[in-house]
Amino acid sequence: MKTPSDNQINYRAGYVSIFGRPNVGKSTFLNRILGIKLSIVSPKPQTTRHKILGIFSSENTQMIFLDTPGLLKPGYLLQKVMMKAAEAAIADANVIIYMIEAGKPLNKEDKEYLLRFISTKKPVLVLLNKIDLIQKNQVLPLIEKISQDFKPEGIIPISALKRDGLAEVTGEIKNLLPYSPPYYPEDMLTEHSERFFVSEIIREQIFYLFGEEIPYSTTVVIDEYREQKAKKDYILAIIYTERDSQKGILIGKKGSALKKIGANSRKEIEKFLAKPVYLELWVKVREKWRKDKKSVKQFGYGS
Ligand code: GDP
Ligand code: MG
Repeated sequence: MKTPSDNQINYRAGYVSIFGRPNVGKSTFLNRILGIKLSIVSPKPQTTRHKILGIFSSENTQMIFLDTPGLLKPGYLLQKVMMKAAEAAIADANVIIYMIEAGKPLNKEDKEYLLRFISTKKPVLVLLNKIDLIQKNQVLPLIEKISQDFKPEGIIPISALKRDGLAEVTGEIKNLLPYSPPYYPEDMLTEHSERFFVSEIIREQIFYLFGEEIPYSTTVVIDEYREQKAKKDYILAIIYTERDSQKGILIGKKGSALKKIGANSRKEIEKFLAKPVYLELWVKVREKWRKDKKSVKQFGYGS
């Protein structure tokens, strides 16, 4: 490891990419570290489609977190775009985090990815999340097994939900980052705009309110975002879905479903922005948008 020469500042900065199977708790972890809700958290798998850049600056260190979409087998065009983002997150990383659920055995996918990450020669930290769900005496054997099989730079048991072990993680990451001045202003939390978070909040509410099929074929675009003097901010969001039948479900009987999405979303948006807003929601159909290059790009996926 390099040490700073006299004329270099004593500061470390770099990129940290987080990988792991859906639902292991990556978004929860990132949100806890950053202290605010940046990345969409949902009980359903595969909801994080964007490469989310969360920035944690503290004590002469800046960690830039990439909350990556899972490394999926490319199927839909949308998944291919996500796969590319994941590859970029490996290439950009100074530290790779691989998260697993402490109570679940490693499956074939975990093993393949771990071997692949180790082979990059970049430092890999394995986080054993959700230790609140298992017996204490189960942790040590698990650490020993992973240590023997993969020899990562570190293995840290945590509970993202209960905020256990997070200081150990940031301490360990700090030691692994290169000496460098910060990349971003230290008060910056993310590169994404408020618009982006507003659309994510609405998308999250759709996940909470509907079954499997609807959320995966739905995306949210902020069509208008207007700050108004002496009046509430005006936000017009369009929910795009793939079929008329889905549009019908999203709107519901006499608009009841859409009303519910709107009310729940507005509450969360107001919490996030810390001010009242006027939220208008429309539902539109864009047939097979997930397979259409132009739409996927227009809706903000990929680069
Ligand atoms: P991701 O798909 O990896 O981003 O996972 P999420 O962060 O969306 O979390 C998936 C689910 O696991 C959510 O219901 C979380 O509340 C839950 N979860 C995350 N971390 C923990 C933890 O440390 N303990 C427990 N019991 N649940 C957790
Ligand atoms: Mg996630």
